[in-house]
Amino acid sequence: MSNRWIWAWFPELLRLETTSERAEVYHRCYGRVMKRPIYWIIAGVIQIGAQIVVGIPAARFAKNYTIPRWLISSGIPLLIAVACIFVIIWVMRRAIIRHIRRELNTRGLPTCIRCGYQLRGLPETVRRCPECGATRQTVDGNADD
Ligand SMILES: [Zn+2]
Repeated sequence: MSNRWIWAWFPELLRLETTSERAEVYHRCYGRVMKRPIYWIIAGVIQIGAQIVVGIPAARFAKNYTIPRWLISSGIPLLIAVACIFVIIWVMRRAIIRHIRRELNTRGLPTCIRCGYQLRGLPETVRRCPECGATRQTVDGNADD
């Protein structure tokens, strides 16, 4: 199935029983991340920040060599923009993973938000994730029944 890369990128989804359930959770979490302006602000800050922090020194450095001006003024920003896209994808993926883990918690599959460790079978008295030490999220709503 063409959705296979989604399971590889978001392995927590495999804890859900059916393919339709996995797709539903993925699309819901993806939509939540894409709708939040904060992630677009982060993406903009990464792009503009990298253009300033990396682009300006790189352009100054390139002027010392016989590199055509058009290559400096368009090549460097383009390279930085492409590199930033990968960083932004990584940030968005992290955000989607956190939403998926929250969703698993509400569906009665206790999962650590920070590391994704399965907390299934652990008594409620265990307040921290045994894998990473993060405080356990309380299960929202009526997920326990
Ligand atoms: Zn953990």
